[in-house]
Formats: sequence, structure tokens, C-alpha cells
Amino acid sequence: MRPTISYIQQKFEEFNQLCFEGKLLPLPFKLSRARTYLGQIAYKRRRKFSLLGLRSGGVEYYDFVFRISTLLDLPKEEVDDTILHEMIHYYILSNQQKDTSTHGKLFRSIMNDINTKFGRHITISHRRTKEEYEQDTCKRQHLICVVEMEGGKRGICIAAKTRLLSIWDTTKLVPAIRQAQWYLSHNPYFNRYPRCLSLKVYPITEDILQQQLQDARPLIRQGSRIIVGRSVD
Ligand SMILES: [Zn+2]
Repeated sequence: MRPTISYIQQKFEEFNQLCFEGKLLPLPFKLSRARTYLGQIAYKRRRKFSLLGLRSGGVEYYDFVFRISTLLDLPKEEVDDTILHEMIHYYILSNQQKDTSTHGKLFRSIMNDINTKFGRHITISHRRTKEEYEQDTCKRQHLICVVEMEGGKRGICIAAKTRLLSIWDTTKLVPAIRQAQWYLSHNPYFNRYPRCLSLKVYPITEDILQQQLQDARPLIRQGSRIIVGRSVD
């Protein structure tokens, strides 16, 4: 999905109540076509003055603007996590709090809190642009579940190694999943997908699957053991 202003506004309200006790003040929302970020909190800085008009030395953040890039068509979950990511920045800046770095100790502790309490998957790295993904040729192991949904649509979920069996089991319990097949691949194309701790299905086309799974090997399950089969035919 590509978010609209009203979608961002609605999510901002919702997450503000849910995760920030409704403490965040409204701010302007803007859409952009930026390639360098998915979300951004723009702000101004000024020196703080004491009551007597003397410089206190501190810096104050003000004039916040919430920007979301609509360049990439992303899964709704990723859009929502991006909104939350920016809300954490906004929370820290608007409370004039200092962190150890852009995504420092404070940011991480709030992020981890929200991820745990509300089952989110907010990350500290802003997710990358399509061009950056194409440049990523690092070979990593991917445990890929390819699912066929009711209605024939295809999707994939890349499992974190430690969650392979539990995600494998979950696919059997979801009525909307007609079929699931597992593969092992080192194709860097799949670097762009997050490692899932629980089943999350990302839509993918049949063409891309055929093309990108050429060197993949099927995974076969025997009880709690996983065996790597011969290459895919
Ligand atoms: Zn950030």
C-alpha cells in the first residue's frame, strides 16, 4: 500500500492512544517521493533562553513535520511500523530528550517496549530503497516459505532460523493458506525481506518466484528435523 495523509493521520491517532498514552501533540503530515527515507521527522533547532534572556546553552527542538515517502508500495505492516518508528523520534524530540545517537539507547528501549507489548516489528534501520536492494549482493541463507492463498495469490515468508518449525506449523493452521512449500536459497534477491519471528506473508508474483527460486532447494520435514532436498525441478 501507499499511505495517504488521512491514513497516516488515523494511524497516528490510534498509535498515540495505544503506545504513547495520547501524549503526542498533533503535527503537520506530508507525503513525499523521497528515495532516501521511508519516514522522517523534520524539525528546527534553536538555542534555549533562560527567563532572564541569557543563553542557557541547551538546544530546543520545534516546528515538527511528519513526512512519509510513497515511492515504494509496501506491505501495510511495514507502513505502520514506519509510522511508529517516526513517532518514537517525535516522542523523544518533542519531549526535548537527549539520546546517545539517532537510534540510541533511549530510542531502542522505547522501540523494544512497543515491539514486545504490541507485537510490532519496528527496526532501527530505515528500510532501504529498491535501488539499494538491487545493490545488495551479500549471500545469506534464506529459509523461504512459499504459500498459495485461497484464490490463488502467492506470497512468501522468510523465517528466522529459530522460528522455522513454529512458522511451519502455523502455515497448517491458517485457513486462508491453501498450500505451503519450503525452500533453502542463498539468492541475494531475498535479502530485501525481513526475517520473520512469526508468520507474515508478503505478496509476490509467480514470475518473480520462478525466476528467483531457480537455485533453491526444497526443505523436507521429518518430525522435528528439516532435511535439504535436491534442487527444484
Ligand atoms: Zn529513525
